[in-house]
Amino acid sequence: MVKLIEIMLKENLITKDAISTLVKSRPPKKISFANLLSEGMIDTHTVEVFLAKKIRQGVITLAHLEKIEGINIVSILEEVAKALHIDYVDLDEVEVDMKLFSQIPYKQLLKYNVIPIEENDLNVVIVFDDPLDMAAQDTIQRLFPRKPIRIAIAKPSQINAHLQRLEINESIKGLVTDIRKDLNQESNADNHDEDNPAVLKLIDIVLKSAIFAGASDIHIEATEKSCIIRIRVDGILRQSFTFDKDIFNPLASRMKLLSNLDIAEKRKPQDGRFSATVAKKDFDFRVSTLPTIFGESIVLRILDKSKAMIRLEDAGMSKFCYDKFSEAIKVPYGIVLVTGPTGSGKTTTLYGAINAIKDVKDKIITVEDPVEYQMSGLQQVNVRESVGLGFADALKSILRQDPDKIMIGEIRNQETLRIAIQAALTGHLVLSTLHTNDAISSISRILDMGIEEYLVSGALVAIQAQRLVRKICTHCKKETVLDPLLYKEVEQYLPENPTFYKGEGCKECGHTGYAGREMISEVLTVSETLARMIAKVASKEDLTKQALEEGFVTMFEDGVQKALDGKSTIEEIFRVARL
Ligand SMILES: [Zn+2]
Repeated sequence: MVKLIEIMLKENLITKDAISTLVKSRPPKKISFANLLSEGMIDTHTVEVFLAKKIRQGVITLAHLEKIEGINIVSILEEVAKALHIDYVDLDEVEVDMKLFSQIPYKQLLKYNVIPIEENDLNVVIVFDDPLDMAAQDTIQRLFPRKPIRIAIAKPSQINAHLQRLEINESIKGLVTDIRKDLNQESNADNHDEDNPAVLKLIDIVLKSAIFAGASDIHIEATEKSCIIRIRVDGILRQSFTFDKDIFNPLASRMKLLSNLDIAEKRKPQDGRFSATVAKKDFDFRVSTLPTIFGESIVLRILDKSKAMIRLEDAGMSKFCYDKFSEAIKVPYGIVLVTGPTGSGKTTTLYGAINAIKDVKDKIITVEDPVEYQMSGLQQVNVRESVGLGFADALKSILRQDPDKIMIGEIRNQETLRIAIQAALTGHLVLSTLHTNDAISSISRILDMGIEEYLVSGALVAIQAQRLVRKICTHCKKETVLDPLLYKEVEQYLPENPTFYKGEGCKECGHTGYAGREMISEVLTVSETLARMIAKVASKEDLTKQALEEGFVTMFEDGVQKALDGKSTIEEIFRVARL
């Protein structure tokens, strides 16, 4: 990067003074575009025009561009495309035509880093990672003798990610051919009960690759032209396979058969589940189907049975929050709430809490919808609204069973909340979850649900609010410079000269820079003062002020600390916990 800045100096785009100011500042600042920009020594437009020119001159490559910090690569790519009269393509936005793909040998795709994306009446659009590589263009053109190729560019990281997905696709090409062969034989023999081992093998690969990637869900979708399989990893969907459209039906049918669903029913949503052992571990798959205009959408939720063993200390809570929360769940009676949006790991925290306080001397009953993980040593009840066993009904029966501790999967209405609070006031420890954004606003939410202040103030022991943030991939983690605007927003929480980290993206993390997730949280312990204030209907502002005086740390601050510890990024904390 210093070499580029030297060229800028030579072309009089920046001054020597600017550089020496950077060097002389205390502590000295790295001579980088990010720093020059954040110090206002050069404007964004000049940098973009300069870099676009250097790409056209072949001084730097597109891949080079992605390594420069502090710049928006998309506007430069657009600038380059305009100057070279080619297209810029956001590969995340286009659907790749798999038939077109198969016309270029896989080795060539890899050698030149190219991706064919579209064939129209006039030409074939091909994305190149180097738009100046004439030899590559000649070679690819020879593969499409009938139509001229049209050159496009995209982010090199996107091209790489696409090629990686193809690599797996390549390995299952043979399977797909077998499935087609089986299909033809089936229709000839008119025997649909015949086992189709190739489809089973394909399902096996789909499940395996999802589980190895640490996915929580698998989405099998029929689109207009193809069959797409996406997986949710660390809360974010990513594409894992693309097949021709004809693979969708056998795949979907087999999935439905496995889950005991009606294969012929394609117009109504269905629910089912099946179990499988993958990599010597037992998994449950909760399956749901939904008719769509191009076929069906099939979603598999992956339930890892060993998760029932989760320990609170492994949930990734900071020590500060862990200490406060573990203290709270040790009380003999009262209610402890875990709050957060869907998918914030509330259930996992509850299981962790139960594991932490489980004791043969206690009778522990849970009521859940549905029971996600089976745990030994406690009674688990499945809520079934369809037979009239709602949360509230189940709770009433549970209380007659003389329990010591009760876990309620979720408090959804006033009736359930009232029974829970009464149970807490009559000598039971109640653990449950509530759908609110932060710990303090849960109090007003509970009061809004119509529970009297004196009951709430007497029953409430603590509230934990939580979210999950993605962790930086440890394989490609490196120091980084924070965007100046972002820096200003978090400045008040930062120590002097903070260091930030990010994942550059590598094979291990599917080029996302993140791998795994961890909790950020805030724990509000209801002190005597706070309880008195709740009974007197204090405002949220007053409660917050008092909590802060008592040492309450917000989830956002907890997150910033995670970023400073190099476990996550400020961008991620903002995405997840911006208040
Ligand atoms: Zn990585």
